[in-house]
Amino acid sequence: MSILKVARIAHPVLRSPAKPVRKEAFRDRLFQKLIDDMRETMHEYEGVGLAAPQVHEGLRLAVIEVPGSDERARAEVPFMVLVNPEVTPLGGERENGWEGCLSVPDLRGVVQRWKRVKLEALDRDGKRYSLEAQDFFARVIQHECDHLDGNVYLDRMADMRSLTFIKEFEDHIHKDEE
Ligand SMILES: [Zn+2]
Repeated sequence: MSILKVARIAHPVLRSPAKPVRKEAFRDRLFQKLIDDMRETMHEYEGVGLAAPQVHEGLRLAVIEVPGSDERARAEVPFMVLVNPEVTPLGGERENGWEGCLSVPDLRGVVQRWKRVKLEALDRDGKRYSLEAQDFFARVIQHECDHLDGNVYLDRMADMRSLTFIKEFEDHIHKDEE
């Protein structure tokens, strides 16, 4: 496995709509390796999700994994692969929350997202699955699927004044939320 180079904003791959993964890809050794490499890259940079355009691959593919030991009491999400995902809001309720992105290093900002969503996607073997997600898990799904349409979380921020560097977030904001 390899750690891949992460594209940062202003690289055109992050602003281009990604292409659907074709049926033949699931049997391709390189496609399977890309998934493993994306997992390793996500771990290396302590992300909870990574979309293929972030590693310079314009494919509708993302990985998500939220560790259970997270200090902010987020629900654990075991490693999962999203191929050609479709996201549908459930219930119409929205929620503000902090987001960061490996393609927008060192920054965080408050983004409004659907609180509950339905995800329909294929797994790494091409098998279709469907699930309902809420709270942080739903947020990560929406964040990663945005990347597949050429969007980043900055585009979703209603108020840019919440934009903060991670160090200042830890010093001034995270502390107050404990
Ligand atoms: Zn991101």
